[in-house]
Amino acid sequence: MHTTSIAAARDAHRQATDLSLTSPQPNERRQVDSAAVARATRELLIALGADLDSEGMRETPRRMAAAYLELLTPDPFSMTTFPNDEGYDELVLARGIPVRSVCEHHLLPVVGVAHVGYLPGERILGLSKLARIVEHFACRPQVQERLTKQVADWLSDQLDPKGVGVVIEAEHSCMTLRGVQAAGSSTVTSTLLGALREDARSRQEFFALTGVYR
Ligand SMILES: [Zn+2]
Repeated sequence: MHTTSIAAARDAHRQATDLSLTSPQPNERRQVDSAAVARATRELLIALGADLDSEGMRETPRRMAAAYLELLTPDPFSMTTFPNDEGYDELVLARGIPVRSVCEHHLLPVVGVAHVGYLPGERILGLSKLARIVEHFACRPQVQERLTKQVADWLSDQLDPKGVGVVIEAEHSCMTLRGVQAAGSSTVTSTLLGALREDARSRQEFFALTGVYR
Protein backbone atom coordinates (compact mmCIF):
# COMPACT_ATOMS: atom_id res chain seq x y z
CA MET A 1 0.00 0.00 0.00
CA HIS A 2 1.01 3.58 -0.58
CA THR A 3 1.10 4.45 3.13
CA THR A 4 3.42 1.49 3.82
CA SER A 5 6.00 2.66 1.33
CA ILE A 6 5.92 6.19 2.75
CA ALA A 7 6.41 4.81 6.27
CA ALA A 8 9.29 2.64 5.07
CA ALA A 9 10.93 5.56 3.36
CA ARG A 10 10.47 7.66 6.48
CA ASP A 11 12.05 4.99 8.66
CA ALA A 12 15.01 4.86 6.32
CA HIS A 13 15.51 8.59 6.87
CA ARG A 14 14.52 8.58 10.53
CA GLN A 15 17.84 9.83 11.77
CA ALA A 16 18.55 13.48 11.23
CA THR A 17 20.80 13.98 8.24
CA ASP A 18 23.87 16.17 8.44
CA LEU A 19 24.39 18.22 5.34
CA SER A 20 27.60 20.10 4.91
CA LEU A 21 27.90 23.12 2.72
CA THR A 22 30.64 21.49 0.74
CA SER A 23 29.22 21.60 -2.77
CA PRO A 24 31.59 23.59 -4.99
CA GLN A 25 30.45 27.16 -5.55
CA PRO A 26 31.88 29.74 -7.95
CA ASN A 27 33.91 31.59 -5.29
CA GLU A 28 34.54 28.69 -2.94
CA ARG A 29 38.10 27.89 -3.92
CA ARG A 30 39.64 30.88 -2.16
CA GLN A 31 42.87 30.53 -0.22
CA VAL A 32 43.13 33.17 2.51
CA ASP A 33 46.55 34.55 3.49
CA SER A 34 45.90 37.06 6.30
CA ALA A 35 49.45 38.41 6.41
CA ALA A 36 49.44 39.05 2.66
CA VAL A 37 46.05 40.80 2.98
CA ALA A 38 47.45 43.14 5.67
CA ARG A 39 50.56 43.90 3.54
CA ALA A 40 48.51 44.54 0.42
CA THR A 41 46.02 46.73 2.33
CA ARG A 42 48.93 48.84 3.58
CA GLU A 43 50.24 49.20 0.01
CA LEU A 44 46.78 50.16 -1.24
CA LEU A 45 46.34 52.86 1.41
CA ILE A 46 49.81 54.29 0.74
CA ALA A 47 49.08 54.35 -3.00
CA LEU A 48 45.85 56.21 -2.20
CA GLY A 49 47.91 58.87 -0.39
CA ALA A 50 46.88 57.97 3.17
CA ASP A 51 49.20 59.09 5.98
CA LEU A 52 49.79 55.84 7.82
CA ASP A 53 52.14 57.53 10.27
CA SER A 54 49.29 59.51 11.78
CA GLU A 55 48.01 58.18 15.08
CA GLY A 56 44.49 57.58 13.77
CA MET A 57 45.60 55.52 10.77
CA ARG A 58 48.56 53.63 12.15
CA GLU A 59 46.51 50.50 12.73
CA THR A 60 44.15 51.02 9.80
CA PRO A 61 45.76 48.48 7.42
CA ARG A 62 45.38 45.75 10.02
CA ARG A 63 41.82 46.76 10.93
CA MET A 64 40.78 47.12 7.30
CA ALA A 65 42.24 43.70 6.43
CA ALA A 66 40.45 42.12 9.40
CA ALA A 67 37.16 43.74 8.39
CA TYR A 68 37.37 42.45 4.82
CA LEU A 69 38.42 39.00 5.96
CA GLU A 70 35.37 38.88 8.24
CA LEU A 71 33.06 40.01 5.44
CA LEU A 72 34.50 37.58 2.91
CA THR A 73 35.13 34.41 4.89
CA PRO A 74 32.09 32.21 5.50
CA ASP A 75 32.05 30.04 8.61
CA PRO A 76 31.87 26.39 7.64
CA PHE A 77 28.81 24.76 9.11
CA SER A 78 26.77 21.63 8.80
CA MET A 79 23.05 21.62 8.42
CA THR A 80 20.70 19.22 10.13
CA THR A 81 17.38 18.34 8.55
CA PHE A 82 14.51 16.50 10.23
CA PRO A 83 11.72 14.28 8.96
CA ASN A 84 8.46 16.17 8.42
CA ASP A 85 6.59 13.84 10.77
CA GLU A 86 3.58 16.15 11.16
CA GLY A 87 3.18 16.35 7.41
CA TYR A 88 3.26 20.15 7.58
CA ASP A 89 2.51 21.33 4.04
CA GLU A 90 2.11 25.10 4.32
CA LEU A 91 4.70 27.74 3.62
CA VAL A 92 7.61 28.10 6.05
CA LEU A 93 8.95 31.64 5.74
CA ALA A 94 11.74 33.53 7.50
CA ARG A 95 11.35 37.27 6.89
CA GLY A 96 13.83 40.09 7.26
CA ILE A 97 17.01 38.01 7.48
CA PRO A 98 19.92 40.50 7.50
CA VAL A 99 22.12 40.46 4.40
CA ARG A 100 25.59 41.93 4.47
CA SER A 101 27.91 41.32 1.58
CA VAL A 102 30.23 43.13 -0.80
CA CYS A 103 29.66 43.51 -4.53
CA GLU A 104 32.22 41.72 -6.64
CA HIS A 105 32.56 44.67 -9.02
CA HIS A 106 33.68 47.35 -6.53
CA LEU A 107 34.13 45.44 -3.28
CA LEU A 108 31.78 47.96 -1.65
CA PRO A 109 29.19 46.96 0.96
CA VAL A 110 25.78 45.58 0.07
CA VAL A 111 23.28 45.75 2.94
CA GLY A 112 19.72 44.53 2.98
CA VAL A 113 17.27 41.83 3.98
CA ALA A 114 16.28 38.43 2.64
CA HIS A 115 12.97 36.62 2.87
CA VAL A 116 13.42 32.88 2.49
CA GLY A 117 10.59 30.37 2.31
CA TYR A 118 9.84 26.82 1.28
CA LEU A 119 6.92 24.43 0.98
CA PRO A 120 8.09 21.33 2.85
CA GLY A 121 8.27 17.89 1.35
CA GLU A 122 9.52 15.02 3.47
CA ARG A 123 12.27 16.96 5.25
CA ILE A 124 12.25 20.20 7.24
CA LEU A 125 15.04 22.42 8.48
CA GLY A 126 15.72 24.19 11.78
CA LEU A 127 14.33 27.72 11.35
CA SER A 128 17.55 29.50 12.33
CA LYS A 129 19.32 27.66 9.52
CA LEU A 130 17.57 29.76 6.88
CA ALA A 131 19.53 32.77 8.17
CA ARG A 132 22.75 30.73 8.27
CA ILE A 133 22.38 29.79 4.61
CA VAL A 134 21.96 33.44 3.61
CA GLU A 135 25.01 34.41 5.70
CA HIS A 136 27.08 31.60 4.21
CA PHE A 137 26.46 32.60 0.61
CA ALA A 138 26.69 36.35 1.36
CA CYS A 139 30.21 36.08 2.85
CA ARG A 140 32.08 36.40 -0.43
CA PRO A 141 32.31 38.85 -3.31
CA GLN A 142 28.82 38.63 -4.71
CA VAL A 143 26.23 39.87 -7.13
CA GLN A 144 22.72 39.96 -5.72
CA GLU A 145 21.23 37.85 -8.51
CA ARG A 146 23.68 35.01 -7.85
CA LEU A 147 23.22 35.20 -4.07
CA THR A 148 19.45 34.91 -4.47
CA LYS A 149 19.75 31.91 -6.76
CA GLN A 150 22.42 30.15 -4.68
CA VAL A 151 20.23 30.26 -1.55
CA ALA A 152 17.22 28.94 -3.49
CA ASP A 153 19.17 26.22 -5.30
CA TRP A 154 20.82 25.04 -2.12
CA LEU A 155 17.47 24.65 -0.33
CA SER A 156 16.02 22.91 -3.36
CA ASP A 157 18.94 20.48 -3.63
CA GLN A 158 19.21 19.64 0.06
CA LEU A 159 15.56 19.54 1.17
CA ASP A 160 13.80 18.47 -2.01
CA PRO A 161 10.85 20.68 -1.00
CA LYS A 162 7.68 21.24 -3.03
CA GLY A 163 8.69 24.82 -3.61
CA VAL A 164 11.26 27.46 -2.70
CA GLY A 165 11.05 31.25 -2.71
CA VAL A 166 13.85 33.72 -2.01
CA VAL A 167 13.53 37.50 -2.18
CA ILE A 168 16.39 39.86 -1.43
CA GLU A 169 16.07 43.65 -1.09
CA ALA A 170 19.42 45.36 -0.76
CA GLU A 171 21.13 48.71 -1.04
CA HIS A 172 24.38 48.67 -3.01
CA SER A 173 26.78 51.34 -1.83
CA CYS A 174 28.46 51.30 -5.26
CA MET A 175 25.12 52.78 -6.45
CA THR A 176 24.32 55.02 -3.51
CA LEU A 177 27.75 56.43 -2.60
CA ARG A 178 29.36 56.79 -6.01
CA GLY A 179 28.45 56.75 -9.71
CA VAL A 180 24.80 57.71 -10.13
CA GLN A 181 24.51 58.28 -6.34
CA ALA A 182 20.99 56.91 -6.26
CA ALA A 183 20.64 57.44 -2.51
CA GLY A 184 17.89 55.42 -0.91
CA SER A 185 17.41 53.13 -3.88
CA SER A 186 17.24 49.41 -3.30
CA THR A 187 17.40 46.44 -5.62
CA VAL A 188 14.93 43.56 -5.39
CA THR A 189 15.70 40.11 -6.76
CA SER A 190 13.74 36.90 -6.46
CA THR A 191 14.09 33.24 -7.30
CA LEU A 192 11.02 30.97 -7.23
CA LEU A 193 11.21 27.23 -7.73
CA GLY A 194 8.67 24.41 -7.90
CA ALA A 195 5.12 25.14 -6.74
CA LEU A 196 5.98 28.72 -5.78
CA ARG A 197 6.94 29.34 -9.38
CA GLU A 198 4.22 27.35 -11.10
CA ASP A 199 1.17 27.84 -8.91
CA ALA A 200 -0.22 31.39 -9.02
CA ARG A 201 -1.98 31.12 -5.66
CA SER A 202 1.14 29.88 -3.84
CA ARG A 203 3.21 32.57 -5.51
CA GLN A 204 0.76 35.30 -4.46
CA GLU A 205 0.70 33.97 -0.91
CA PHE A 206 4.50 33.99 -0.78
CA PHE A 207 4.81 37.55 -2.03
CA ALA A 208 1.96 38.74 0.22
CA LEU A 209 3.68 37.25 3.28
CA THR A 210 7.08 38.71 2.36
CA GLY A 211 5.43 42.13 2.01
CA VAL A 212 7.72 43.00 -0.89
CA TYR A 213 5.12 43.68 -3.58
CA ARG A 214 1.90 45.36 -2.55
ZN1 LIG B 1 29.33 47.30 -7.22
